[in-house]
Amino acid sequence: MSSSSSVSGNTYFHRRHVERGTPKQCWCGKPAELCTSASRANPGRLYYCCRKGYIKRHLFKWADECLVEEVEDMKSVMSDMTKGISDLRVDVGRLEKELGKAEKMKCLMFPVVVCGFGMAIFWHYFFA
Ligand SMILES: [Zn+2]
Repeated sequence: MSSSSSVSGNTYFHRRHVERGTPKQCWCGKPAELCTSASRANPGRLYYCCRKGYIKRHLFKWADECLVEEVEDMKSVMSDMTKGISDLRVDVGRLEKELGKAEKMKCLMFPVVVCGFGMAIFWHYFFA
């Protein structure tokens, strides 16, 4: 971690290519570095910046705002997963019904198959 005394406000809104959540790297290709603000406005507040340092137009993003975005994104993913689970439950219910019908058909078909097989044997011995 490094410190900076020149950090202020929400200047990252004016910066290019700031990804949602915790940034991995700056648009210039340098990895993001977690730093601590030493400004009067935000003393001790963590932020991500370009490894080159706090340079205008390079990466700058408050770490707490990154976490808020990540939690928001996770909530969205959880919501999608909850809907997916709900859809799967409906599918399992439908498959259980289909399986029940197949079991009933198997019970009905067994005497028919046995009877048909018996008739075939009978036909073979007496008429062939
Ligand atoms: Zn950079």
